Amino acid sequence: MEPKDSNGPKIAGASSVTLPNTEAALNVEEYASNPASHERTGFPKQGGQSLSYWLQQVRCDPLLDHRTTEELPRETDTVIIGSGITGTLVAKHHLETFPSDKVLVLEAREFCSGATGRNAGHCKSDQWRGYEKFAKAYGQEQAIKILDNEQATWRALVAYVEENKVDCDLWVGETLDVPLDAEVAKIAREVFERYGAAGGKVDHIEVTHDPVEAARKSRIKNAKACYAWQASTLQPWKLTAHIMRQNLKKGANLQTYTLAESISKGTNSRKWVVHTERGDVECNFIVHATNAYSAALEPSLRGVITPKPHICTRVVPPRSFSGSNAVSNSYGVLLADGALFSINPRCSADGHIMFGGSNPGQKALDAWVEQNPENCINDGLANLEGVTRHVKKLVEREFDGWQDAEFGPGEGFEDSWSGIIGLSADGVPFVGEIPGKPGQWICAGHHGHGMARIFTAAPGLVKLLKGDNWDATGLPDVYQMTPERLERLRSLEPAPAIAVI
Ligand SMILES: Cc1cc2nc3c(=O)[nH]c(=O)nc-3n(C[C@H](O)[C@H](O)[C@H](O)COP(=O)(O)OP(=O)(O)OC[C@H]3O[C@@H](n4cnc5c(N)ncnc54)[C@H](O)[C@@H]3O)c2cc1C
Repeated sequence: MEPKDSNGPKIAGASSVTLPNTEAALNVEEYASNPASHERTGFPKQGGQSLSYWLQQVRCDPLLDHRTTEELPRETDTVIIGSGITGTLVAKHHLETFPSDKVLVLEAREFCSGATGRNAGHCKSDQWRGYEKFAKAYGQEQAIKILDNEQATWRALVAYVEENKVDCDLWVGETLDVPLDAEVAKIAREVFERYGAAGGKVDHIEVTHDPVEAARKSRIKNAKACYAWQASTLQPWKLTAHIMRQNLKKGANLQTYTLAESISKGTNSRKWVVHTERGDVECNFIVHATNAYSAALEPSLRGVITPKPHICTRVVPPRSFSGSNAVSNSYGVLLADGALFSINPRCSADGHIMFGGSNPGQKALDAWVEQNPENCINDGLANLEGVTRHVKKLVEREFDGWQDAEFGPGEGFEDSWSGIIGLSADGVPFVGEIPGKPGQWICAGHHGHGMARIFTAAPGLVKLLKGDNWDATGLPDVYQMTPERLERLRSLEPAPAIAVI
């Protein structure tokens, strides 16, 4: 799939958009940033990682350090590298599609201790905000396909949890996108209207442009507009663990604390060997489900998938925001300069509120990582005052009564942790065979938005493994890994922070 013009992929990596003649910018990628250089990479950090709230809750779960067999098998049919939601779902669909094939999942650390076990627990499909950026980059049809795919992914995740009665604190309810600035509201309205005019589905989105009504509906004091549609929050580790337990019952072999260090050709030209400290495994197929760490193992992805740390902050609301007055929506709060707070209350569980997104403190952290690139895979970062301060400022200013609330021990800004996001150079994931490496496949580069992508991307990859053509995946064409895309991105200039639409 060729982009519309040579700047296409570059614009697709931008994290905000703007209109001519305004200083304001609308955030379109909740967790993105714009690294000046894409060259940095690294393997998962061993030791000293921060512990997310999700991982704290499961400390005695034996899946964390599970090894199905004491010894690493010497051969298998498929090796899946990575046990996040991608690797776990690829294993599920692989076992269903090829029931007699052996599947080995390698995980460098604890089970699901990468981004999936550390994210903000929000499954929110972008239903309009990214439209114009993707339309400029890839054309209207692909842009609509990307947003439709996000909705299909959210539906697939919710359907799986409901059908299988997965105990993962799933909440389904209204998410609200709320611009805090009149100029941002103007850009948002323009994007939304262009999306509707292009044939994008908007009738499930309730919109108010009246600031008084927007503030009433959202409880955000300085709201200038409000866009509402359905999304979810959940405990991502528990969901992934449920799926992995089913995989194990169907015969998968999971080996935690086993880093895939390198890959070489096997005994015949159609085989590959994965090298680990615990020995080598020969196989027919490899699936790279290594997301942020992909380029450490597969050098052709340097400059294409770039790791960066991101912070999630957990807040226990004061009594005045608990019980019947608890926050009962998730949010994307949109600031004037393209920053965003993602707010995800655990409405169906303990009511703790997770704050993520590209908040202004996170932007400062991104700049620090640029200067200190060895920290690009440092998920030991925690409780960064610079990030927490901005969360605090926002809730005190925007949630009426929060500032005056009396906080006792156990309430308030409890803790924060970090995880590593896999930025894609052109803003969208890579699904397909790695060019020049027949038998090696990849599903990675989810650009900080994997919960709204992977439930369809992972089964799509297994369809390709089976020999189906791209159309059978139902995924947007621009997600496909092709030699041309890889070549183009390796020489691409970094994305602009703000794309003019
Ligand atoms: C703080 C934070 C907040 C986020 N919030 C959200 C959100 O609210 N909504 C959303 O949609 N997305 C969010 N994301 C992004 C989302 O979590 C990711 O897109 C998604 O989890 C990626 O899943 P994955 O399985 O591809 O990668 P991961 O979960 O990172 O899994 C990759 C696994 O591969 C392992 N691995 C890597 N290299 C090797 C190797 N060589 N050998 C063996 N194992 C290896 C890693 O240890 C890791 O466990 C957030 C991310 C972070 C960090």
